[in-house]
Amino acid sequence: MAQIRINNLRKEFGAFTAVKSSTFTVEDGEFFMLLGPSGCGKTTTLRMMAGLELPTSGEIFIDGEEVAQKPASQRDIAFVFQMFALYPHMNVRKNISYPLVSQGVERAEVRARVAEVARILKIESILDRSVGGLSGGDRQRVALGRAIVRRPKAFLMDEPLGALDAEFREHMAEELRALHDRIGATTVYVTHDQLEAMQMGDKIVVMNHGSVEQFGRPQEIYDWPATKFVAGFIGSPAMNFFDFNGAISPGGESIELSGNPVGVPQARQGATGKLTLGVRPEHIRFSDQSAYRGRVVATEYLGTTQIITLDTPNGEAKARTSARQAIREGEIVGLDFNPTTVTIFEGLKGQALLSAGNEGVLHHG
Ligand code: ATP
Repeated sequence: MAQIRINNLRKEFGAFTAVKSSTFTVEDGEFFMLLGPSGCGKTTTLRMMAGLELPTSGEIFIDGEEVAQKPASQRDIAFVFQMFALYPHMNVRKNISYPLVSQGVERAEVRARVAEVARILKIESILDRSVGGLSGGDRQRVALGRAIVRRPKAFLMDEPLGALDAEFREHMAEELRALHDRIGATTVYVTHDQLEAMQMGDKIVVMNHGSVEQFGRPQEIYDWPATKFVAGFIGSPAMNFFDFNGAISPGGESIELSGNPVGVPQARQGATGKLTLGVRPEHIRFSDQSAYRGRVVATEYLGTTQIITLDTPNGEAKARTSARQAIREGEIVGLDFNPTTVTIFEGLKGQALLSAGNEGVLHHG
């Protein structure tokens, strides 16, 4: 098991910078997600950790040892690709034992370790079957077995479930997480799927355009997004953004949204000019008392909750309420936001203004 520390890691491909000065730490035994949209530099970061790509600058420490310029073979970590490749002419047992046999490990030791892996993965009954006839799930388990049997310090996984259909993907995600909990090995997992990252990860790094926007626990990132990008990327439906010009009240407790006062958390830094109020759909409440009003333009029934689309003075917004709340299209409703749950973003990069409640949990890259 290992701690992996990334310090000011940078990768340029010619004139293009794919990864810009990333800094974060994967603690020993963590299930750690690298999350972001296509092209943001996740795979390049993972490949640098693995030793498959040399950084332009920066450091990578595995258990305190600087390895940035060392080849993959000297890092003792297993890289699991999206397409699990198995040797089709070998049975399950031979596929799993292959990495040990090629390292010259003794036969008795190989047998014991394959048996242990088969028990962990619950595939004892198929050890002597040919891989050709296996189901997709069993093939994935065998491929994982081949990675686990080496007992590497860490696993690096690049969208390992990317090719699977939604239902099976969810099942394998649960299995992978449970497997991690059983063996406790440090795992770094690349995904562009925010739900997958939230469900599986102990920690998440959110990347955009080669930069780390934030890292932290899933709930910290959801509740206290460090930037407007993170706020919009995590959560479905996405966080609502209400642009407003202006002033946070002198005491820092409210803003004016289209002429109506709206409560906000105590902003530690004052800011004026173009600001954005961020409100999650589940934090919009309907209240007759509120002078800030919107018109219901659509409702979407989801069983226990419903998504209500509203036309507000600041554009379209989506609210999530209990499905039992009676609401009709065309209705004009007062909108109320709980001040402790909203975020205000400022500036070109859309940085969140820190408040007393969230300043301890934000981590910028
Ligand atoms: P995806 O999920 O689409 O793979 P990603 O976040 O993993 O996205 P990377 O594969 O790390 O992104 O790529 C980041 C950027 O670097 C992309 O714009 C990509 O085109 C570029 N890039 C990656 N590898 C190379 C290379 N060998 N030469 C030139 N550009 C590259």
